[in-house]
Amino acid sequence: MYQPTNKKEVLAGRKAHFGGNLSLTYSDPVMLVRGWRHHLFDEWGRPYLDAYNNVPHVGHAHPRIQAVAADQLKRMNSNTRYLHPAQTAFADKVLSKLPDSFEVCFFVNSGTEANELALRLARAHTGAKGMVTPDHGYHGNTTGVIDVSAYKFNAKGGCGQADWVELVEVADDYRGSFKRDDANRAEKFADLVEPAIEALQNKGHGVAGFIAETFPSVGGQIIPPKGYLSSVYEKIRAAGGVCIADEVQTGLGRLGDFYFGFEHQEALPDIVVMGKPIGNGHPLGVLVTTKAIADSFAQGPEFFSTFGGSTLSCRIGKEVLDIVDDEDLQGNARQMGALLIDGLRTLEQKYDCVGDVRGMGLFLGLELINPDGSEASQISSYVKNRMRDYRILIGSEGPKDNILKIRPPLTIDKEGVEMILTTLNHVLSEIS
Ligand code: PMP
Repeated sequence: MYQPTNKKEVLAGRKAHFGGNLSLTYSDPVMLVRGWRHHLFDEWGRPYLDAYNNVPHVGHAHPRIQAVAADQLKRMNSNTRYLHPAQTAFADKVLSKLPDSFEVCFFVNSGTEANELALRLARAHTGAKGMVTPDHGYHGNTTGVIDVSAYKFNAKGGCGQADWVELVEVADDYRGSFKRDDANRAEKFADLVEPAIEALQNKGHGVAGFIAETFPSVGGQIIPPKGYLSSVYEKIRAAGGVCIADEVQTGLGRLGDFYFGFEHQEALPDIVVMGKPIGNGHPLGVLVTTKAIADSFAQGPEFFSTFGGSTLSCRIGKEVLDIVDDEDLQGNARQMGALLIDGLRTLEQKYDCVGDVRGMGLFLGLELINPDGSEASQISSYVKNRMRDYRILIGSEGPKDNILKIRPPLTIDKEGVEMILTTLNHVLSEIS
């Protein structure tokens, strides 16, 4: 089998045979061939600290995931048209992490598919089409969910805003309309859904629902003020809509104090969507909802996904959630997150270009600013690439790409945290 190991060859092959809008991170891209916990290794065996990837939630190449995958593939792998105890075991495990109102699980292959299904459920349950969603959101790559992903439909060359979608301002209390010194900011941001609801009703679409990343990630690692979502949900429900919490980035213990982001908001969604980390790299998406919503959807055509809920997927998904519990990775996210935030706050005091430090657990953002307070996109790109030179992988987000994103696997340890902080201090000193 032809297996190029030379980075230049791989890059040339990629340029020749892949679409031009499949983007690569870093001006000098990295080629990664092995992983272990929160470490990655390139083609020369050089180690990188993975401070960015949330998919390997319980760590890269976890032996327990390897073992269940191998074991199941040796036995058989089939679909939900046949009974298998792994399906119900996974559903029971997922539901054990959620409030009692959630009774029904749907297993699909990605976060995108789960959100796509969420839109169908919302429409089946309400008979309406209109959706309200915060600006700069992202829910996936298919036609249906791109329509509720302003990050894509408003991007250069994007398809533009659909008539049945109303955008509301992101509840960003650092840069948005209502700031942290305003005690009523949560309510003020939430009030912005009222004209959106009215617009959908006037256009005759009605309100099928509200979909949001519980903590907007591509929007800039934003933690909405407490109470924002519960207030939005109340207004959406009063208009007949259902509330969809996209927990693809925030769920499964990453936040440390909370298993899901909606718990922080003291909000109870009608549909919760999980993806990315739930398969630790195996393609897996999960949607959970109430019996009433699932019953409305069941009035329609049969629902089937060939690979969604496969025996293999169910075994891997359950193993991931078990590992989070067995290794107390949520506790580790809380402890390591606290250390990171502390260290980042010290850097905020020291460097003028650090405008804001925000986040929770291992979902963190560092907003970089120019001397006039505007978004420092260039500095952000510089820092991200310099961190890569020191073999630490981080990301950048936000409408102006000026928020550094730190979101490591939940296995990160004190040594890893110190490495991030020490290196970031050094790189920031190069700017100031
Ligand atoms: N929702 C959110 C919040 C996401 O971040 C993503 C992926 N970045 C998705 C949905 C889509 O997930 P996938 O790429 O696995 O389909």
